[in-house]
Amino acid sequence: MRIALFGAPGAGKGSQAALLTKNESLRHISTGIILRNAIRNGSEVGEQARKYMDAGSLVPGAIVRKMAEKAIRKATFNQYVLDGYPRTIEQAQWLTEFLEENAAPLDAVVSLKIPDDVIVNRISKRRVNIKTGENFHLDFKPPSPDIDPNDIIQRDDDRPEAILKRLLVYNDLTQPVEDYFRQRDLLLEINGVGSFEDVHERVILSLKELQSVP
Ligand code: AMP
Repeated sequence: MRIALFGAPGAGKGSQAALLTKNESLRHISTGIILRNAIRNGSEVGEQARKYMDAGSLVPGAIVRKMAEKAIRKATFNQYVLDGYPRTIEQAQWLTEFLEENAAPLDAVVSLKIPDDVIVNRISKRRVNIKTGENFHLDFKPPSPDIDPNDIIQRDDDRPEAILKRLLVYNDLTQPVEDYFRQRDLLLEINGVGSFEDVHERVILSLKELQSVP
């Protein structure tokens, strides 16, 4: 199964990808996590990406494309869930062509829908384990006490100044990607409000329905 998760910042893409990875044995491909790792490792590409990320802007397409391509090849074009890619029409076009050339098109694009007030609450209370990439929410999924508190951080781009910019970028550049996939009959729209487990169940149900369609 080849899936892309789509949605606004804070829609729950990372958490749903983690559940799909755990329960459905899909490989989690998150360009955000790959970029944060590149920054943490002090690589040149991480250094280039950092200023865009901290400002809440998109990282230049060529950098992210290489990361996505490498990770999809590593997954041998199957059994993966893309999280945070594609984020522009250009990226969506490239991905479609790249996968078609390799005879491995996406099965579905799962779009997680949540209202704006939920977005702001989720992002401002989000914390992340810098070592594993796992997401937490201070109220609904606090980090367990056996994790080193120094590993739990608030992402720089989850601070209020960057959140606003990310939402603007999402509305301008990313939202149109939903229509791109709707026109290609790949879009599954899922209510993203509720517990991680409830939303996961909706996602699974919807993917199962898709598989049963002849
Ligand atoms: P995420 O962890 O998916 O929220 O991504 C965090 C940040 O990484 C984004 O705000 C962008 O700055 C950058 N990023 C991640 N994926 C992409 C992408 N597909 N295109 C451009 N920038 C990206």
